[in-house]
Amino acid sequence: MTRSITLLGATGSIGASTLDLVRRNPDDWNVEALSANCSAKELAALAREFGAKVAVVGDESCLDELKDALAGSGIEAAGGSEALCEAAARPVDMTVAAIVGCAGLAPTMAAVRRGGTVALANKEALVSAGDVMMSAVAQNGATLLPTDSEHNAIFQCLAGGKIEDVARITLTASGGPLRTWSREAIDAATPEQAVAHPNWSMGAKISVDSATMMNKGLEYIEAFHLFPVGLDRLRIVVHPQSVIHSMVEYRDRSTLAQLGPSDMRVPIASCLAWPERMETPLEPLDLSSIGELTFHAPDEARFPATRIAREAIEAGGGAPAVLNAANEIAVEAFLAGQIGFSRITAVAETTLASYSAAAPASLEDVLALDAEARIRARDALENTALV
Ligand code: NAD
Ligand code: MG
Repeated sequence: MTRSITLLGATGSIGASTLDLVRRNPDDWNVEALSANCSAKELAALAREFGAKVAVVGDESCLDELKDALAGSGIEAAGGSEALCEAAARPVDMTVAAIVGCAGLAPTMAAVRRGGTVALANKEALVSAGDVMMSAVAQNGATLLPTDSEHNAIFQCLAGGKIEDVARITLTASGGPLRTWSREAIDAATPEQAVAHPNWSMGAKISVDSATMMNKGLEYIEAFHLFPVGLDRLRIVVHPQSVIHSMVEYRDRSTLAQLGPSDMRVPIASCLAWPERMETPLEPLDLSSIGELTFHAPDEARFPATRIAREAIEAGGGAPAVLNAANEIAVEAFLAGQIGFSRITAVAETTLASYSAAAPASLEDVLALDAEARIRARDALENTALV
């Protein structure tokens, strides 16, 4: 049966992995909308290849270029944040939310409010909106399928189980490219070193987040919202081989783990086919050639991000949204060569400490808080850059 799909963030890393699976099963999918921030030519080429009905650039200043690139195709071109939300609200069987950052929140919420099935890769949206998104999911009867590999693993390990029977959920972390580095070497890490992930190929922002371990911090908050077991039943373990993607321990001390190649097409396929299964082009997991799976506790002295994220979700209210906004600003500044690597988490922590924001009650509240936190993070950036 052919199903319709909208892909928010089509030109990114998750976008490419999703389209690779769609391309292999062209008869299964009708593409409704594809979006990008500004890569108009690339987006237009994808829209033509997949026969999308509409292509949307988030940045309205790129709309003319998109229109030119789509001329004669019959594909509708649109631009700007409202157009993005309008496209995300069109009825489809599946929405893949793969925009990076809080920029993806409003369109993801538009898909949720329509009561659709949303494969959520865009963790920053859930970290920022938290209860606002989860209550919209419940109120509108939407289905949120976790696409982040860890959360998808947990989702799979929970199938057939009861959340009340869960004793503990363990998020695995690769430890990132700087895992074995000394504190001094970490301080001096360059953007090039920080994005060189040993196991996964991903967009620049999440690659830096993996290097600081803020990715795992954000995922801890993401897991708190997706799987209501409480913070004391969530923990993080470093597992450098990235073969076990996460685990669920039940109260009888039986632990279920999900294993697989470190390729996002596996969790994406699990979402696209859910509740069925589909083929992926990946090689079978060869455990005897992998040989060893190792585990150790995170070192929060060298990588404070997981502690900072835990403190933010423990504080609750608007703290996770502030943390996310500050981290986005700091990562951007690091990638632009404006601050050193260790300043990323310092900026996040300073911004968090600068005020206690009340819990946002609506999407508008979250967006306002996000905007305010960005201003404060830029202040913190200037101050910490001097240190
Ligand atoms: P990416 O940078 O490769 O792609 C991001 C996409 O979002 C692009 O299509 C880009 O054009 C679009 N975009 C960026 N800014 C935008 C804006 N302001 N408005 C509208 N569109 C915008 O990122 P990615 O690595 O594909 O990650 C996407 C999301 O998935 C992130 O939230 C990330 O944390 C999450 N995720 C990624 C991976 C991975 O392996 N790449 C794994 C797990 C989760
Ligand atoms: Mg992940």
